[in-house]
Amino acid sequence: MRKLISIVVPCYNEEEVLKETLPSLDRLCDSQPGFDFEIVYVDDGSRDATFELLCEAARADPRLRVIRFARNFGHQIAVTAGIDATRGDAVVLIDADLQDPPEVVNDMIAKWQEGYDVVYGMRMSRAGESTFKLATARGFYRLLNRLSEVEIPLDTGDFRLMSRPVVDVLKAMPERHRFVRGMVAWIGFRQIALPYVRVERVAGTSKYPLRKMLRFAIDGILSFSTKPLQLSVALGLIAATLAILGIFYALALRVFTSIWVEGWTALMIAVLFIGGVQLFSLGILGEYVGRIYSEVKRRPLYVVGERVGFDDERGAATVTEINRPTATNPERAE
Ligand code: UDP
Ligand code: MG
Repeated sequence: MRKLISIVVPCYNEEEVLKETLPSLDRLCDSQPGFDFEIVYVDDGSRDATFELLCEAARADPRLRVIRFARNFGHQIAVTAGIDATRGDAVVLIDADLQDPPEVVNDMIAKWQEGYDVVYGMRMSRAGESTFKLATARGFYRLLNRLSEVEIPLDTGDFRLMSRPVVDVLKAMPERHRFVRGMVAWIGFRQIALPYVRVERVAGTSKYPLRKMLRFAIDGILSFSTKPLQLSVALGLIAATLAILGIFYALALRVFTSIWVEGWTALMIAVLFIGGVQLFSLGILGEYVGRIYSEVKRRPLYVVGERVGFDDERGAATVTEINRPTATNPERAE
């Protein structure tokens, strides 16, 4: 039986690059005659001509499928929706901006054929990124690795190939704050890094402003670690120790000297310090509580506005994944 490979491409306001991306992914598929391909484009609520371009291409090529979100849900959710829609024996995640060269996918397929379940691209160098982004990304992946209970590979994005068994487990993970690269690392199976050189965006600008990047980094850490909670315990202990020393000092002044009215500075420092530690700890707690709240609401992960190129094409808005399957109960899907 010929194997089917699915390629998932999240797109948000990518009209400038799509005229490059569409043909170059086509070429990739044509260069692998031994496999069947489907390409799932997810339009993450673009406000430009992205969807029209994708539909036009899908009309001409039966390999293409397009999912259009009802609004912008973010990169990780777009990737998730694409994965949910795939049927391939292997699923490849790739950005629309061609920063991850499609030729590398050939090597990923080769590794998959050797028996690996996950082949993730590891960036050896990144062209066209600001020093700030490079430095923060580097620092972030190292921090994440120290905090996280699972080992999340360094300098690795979502550019990867996953086998069907991995994809099925991934689909059974219902969490809202998704950090896909970490979730895949958690799943296990045979994983291997594939070094590659990340190039510049072909056109357009990054859709990840600092604010989104920061959110993403916080999601990564909080989804894979409870160490920040322990940090607040540590800070609390330090504060308490200092407070006890302060109490002894204050008592000593009161008993043995006559200068006990002074000490306003010490008092202020203690109040500010303890107040700061408390607020900080409360903030960390709040982040986790907020996450519990959004998980408990059990809203669907995304809302699909339109689907093009699927057998069961639906025009009206469809709410998907209210009832995501669980690892123990895969039947709950659909
Ligand atoms: N993207 C998306 N939704 C968003 C932001 C980005 O689907 O809200 C897509 C975007 O179209 C691209 C990929 O995610 O295909 C990576 O985004 P980008 O290239 O802007 O990020 P960067 O490479 O600068 O980190
Ligand atoms: Mg990019």
